[in-house]
Formats: sequence, structure tokens, C-alpha cells
Amino acid sequence: MRIDKVLANMGYGTRKEVKKLLKTGVVRADGVPLKHGKEHVDPYEQEITIYGELVEYREHIYLMMNKPQGVISATEDPNEHTVIDILEPEDQVFEPFPVGRLDKDTEGFLLITNDGKLAHQLLSPKKGVGKRYFAHIEGVVTEADKDSFLEGVELDDGYVTKPAQLTILESGEESIIELVITEGKFHQVKRMFESVGKQVTYLKRLSMAGMELDEDLEPGEYRELNDEEIEFLQ
Ligand code: URA
Repeated sequence: MRIDKVLANMGYGTRKEVKKLLKTGVVRADGVPLKHGKEHVDPYEQEITIYGELVEYREHIYLMMNKPQGVISATEDPNEHTVIDILEPEDQVFEPFPVGRLDKDTEGFLLITNDGKLAHQLLSPKKGVGKRYFAHIEGVVTEADKDSFLEGVELDDGYVTKPAQLTILESGEESIIELVITEGKFHQVKRMFESVGKQVTYLKRLSMAGMELDEDLEPGEYRELNDEEIEFLQ
């Protein structure tokens, strides 16, 4: 891999800035100065240093965010704040993206990574990855709704949902529920409740693929996954 790409990927500036840095001769691979961006290194095998400090290279980043309301699940947008805007610049250099989407007014578990293969696996309809949501519902949620969700309900476009597990935590004028779904249609939870004549007034994703949202993360906070967690998702 070209040394300028390695350094740019690790957040040492743009390719142009990295070129300048290289010219000064402070970048070394196994002790040998590298002065040109086009020189190749193996960032996993060779010891790359800048001013004698080791550069730890890694290709992928895996972040768990408690997505706050008011930001969209996109990488960039001319008018809206995105989940990527929340990230520190040293995390943004990895060019990560959200794995799937939560609505602007939905909170909770959002995985952000630049690992396209993992994202593909988690989003593949064939895999049927489970997602658990907590919601407030306007209206009385009933056992009949639970049975309907288990059988599958017809959404406004005629699509019939796969079996979903509804747990009623409180039933009243405003009900509180948890729902596990294994697919990710647009506005799926909201549309499932619409199909039984009710409205979601608050929605939070609690878990995805068996991984729970870290309770220490306040809305808008995020942290890196540890090695065990990354392994668990693969
Ligand atoms: N279902 C929805 O309706 N909205 C979300 O953000 C996620 C699932």
C-alpha cells in the first residue's frame, strides 16, 4: 500500500499534507526514511514511525452510537445534521457509514463502520438479523395486536411483514411496548402500528444482531466496539 494512503487513512492529513510531511524525512518504515508518497509499505508487517512514534495501522473502524433524535442516518446532507457529523475528526477519516437507517426522530443503537462486508451481512434480508425496539404507542395495544404481529400484518403498500414478537409492557391510552423484527422496511415499526390503527410517538432501538445498546451511552454519544464485540458480529 502507498505510504501516503496509509498516512492519510490514519488521519495524518490530506494526501498533499502527507506529501509535505514525507519530504521532511520524519516518516520511516523499519527505520528507513520514506520521502515519497508513492513508496509502498506493508502497514501490518512493517514498523512505521513518525518522529520515532509508532503509527498503528488499521483498516476498519466499528462504532456503537446511541443515535439522538434530530439527526439523519446518512453520511452527508446539505441541509440536515448527520450521524457522521457527530463523530470526532479522527474517526471520520475512516469514512464510516451507518449500517441501516433509523428515522430522524428515532433514537438508539446504530452501528457505524467502514466494513462493507459486515454491513452487507447485517443488512442482507436473507440473514434476517433481529432488531429490538422500545416504543410508546398512542392507543391501547392489545393481545390481538400481538397475535397479528406474530402472523404478519399488511403495510400500506401491500407488503406483509414477517413474524414479529410484540411484548406489551403497559397497555392504556398510551401503551409501552417492545418489538423484535427481523427485517428493515422503510419506517417499518411505525407502519406496522399504523396497520393496526395506532401511532408510534417515541421509538428507540435497543439492540441489533443480539448486541445491546451500551446503557452508558447518552443520546449523541458513541464508543468503539472492542475485539470481542467485533468478533461477535462477524
Ligand atoms: N422502524 C421505524 O418506523 N423507524 C425506525 O427508525 C426504525 C424502524
